[in-house]
Amino acid sequence: MGKPDSFLELKNVSQVYTVGERQFTAIEDFSLTLKEGEFCALLGPSGCGKSTLLRIITGLQAPTGGKVLYRSRPLTGVNPHAAMVFQTFALFPWLTVQENVELALEARGLPARVRNDRALEILDRVGLDGFETAYPRELSGGMRQKVGFARAIAVEPELLCLDEPFSSLDILSAETLRRELLELWTGGRLPTRAILMVTHSIEEAVFMADRIVVMDKDPGRLMTDFKVGLAHPRDRKDRGFEAVVDNVYSLLAGQTEPDHVELGAEPAAPGPTRRLPNVHISDLSGLLEHLESARDHQDDIYALAEDLKMNSDHLLNLIQAAELLGFATVWKGDIRLTPLGETFAATGIIGRKEIFAVRLKRLSFFKWLASILRASEKSRQRWDVIEAALGLEFHPAEARQQLERIVEWGRYAELLSYDDKSRVIYLEPATESPP
Ligand code: ADP
Ligand code: MG
Repeated sequence: MGKPDSFLELKNVSQVYTVGERQFTAIEDFSLTLKEGEFCALLGPSGCGKSTLLRIITGLQAPTGGKVLYRSRPLTGVNPHAAMVFQTFALFPWLTVQENVELALEARGLPARVRNDRALEILDRVGLDGFETAYPRELSGGMRQKVGFARAIAVEPELLCLDEPFSSLDILSAETLRRELLELWTGGRLPTRAILMVTHSIEEAVFMADRIVVMDKDPGRLMTDFKVGLAHPRDRKDRGFEAVVDNVYSLLAGQTEPDHVELGAEPAAPGPTRRLPNVHISDLSGLLEHLESARDHQDDIYALAEDLKMNSDHLLNLIQAAELLGFATVWKGDIRLTPLGETFAATGIIGRKEIFAVRLKRLSFFKWLASILRASEKSRQRWDVIEAALGLEFHPAEARQQLERIVEWGRYAELLSYDDKSRVIYLEPATESPP
């Protein structure tokens, strides 16, 4: 007998894959207990074994080591109480929306009448009423994904596994679907007891989940596991929300102590006080990608200068920037990616901008600039005014260079804009309210 609250248990699960002659460990010694009522998000760099883990959990695949217990019983074969939603859904194009949903019910052996009633009811619940007789090609991407959700929910799964369910949708459809799923879940309108969702987005995890599990790769393993103590519905602009997002980032950046501030900056320093390393985002990204592909995500700094054919001043600037932003740590001549750095290197342009923005907002230099802009009319200020203000702390040439850097970084993060003609810097609307 397991504990009464043990819903799903993974005990020392490992997965070794054989590719040709070679064997490699995709997942190593992974243990996790999921309770009823939990919405758990699974984060980690691509290739760390998230999808593999979902297949193991739903019984689509047996692990090479360890055990999966479902309601305290070892799982053998496909778990009939679990359902999976994928990034994109293979809907049958020759079947209507309703028939696509009914197919899942047929597979579970439900009689025709029940199938019909249940499909109509579910389609209504996810807001697809009126589209029962439509064919997939007539639907938008967001609606097709809704059919996918409907198909998964129709079988009334106790465990719902989602593998990056929103990542192929446009921003608006994704947000709508997130909110709708949350409404169903928090309103108790799903038969589901627990949700496990793989995502690449830290914000999405904090927006939706009660608990976040972070994995690392090579080999895939559990790194951290913590609770998100925010009530639903959550507001991304809420200070509490931002604080949790910030904490997750810090955790991923290896800065778990709340008062740890990067490279000796004073947390409440009034002015810019901290020189920004003079590097371009593209070069920084290049360094992080290089480390991501290196063994153990680390490299000897000396070897790095050779590998990258880079002069050491430039390299040291890049390393300093990586450290400042929490993407890497330096220790005894080695530089190593933090999980945040890994996530940055492994994700696409939108994910990178999101990560960069959160980190940039933490820098005292950025806070200083943002506070000046906020205090200015229409949240904008002339370049030369700010350059003059910086001139109080830096040599003239350096003041200009520093301003160029923060504006470049801010534009990349979509926190700042700069109009070249009028030479005016302004805050993007989303940055206008103080943190
Ligand atoms: P994630 O979903 O986190 O990106 P996956 O679970 O898809 O990771 O894959 C983890 C690792 O296992 C990757 O290196 C991937 O190439 C490898 N892998 C996944 N499935 C198989 C398979 N069936 N055979 C061999 N290697 C696999
Ligand atoms: Mg995957």
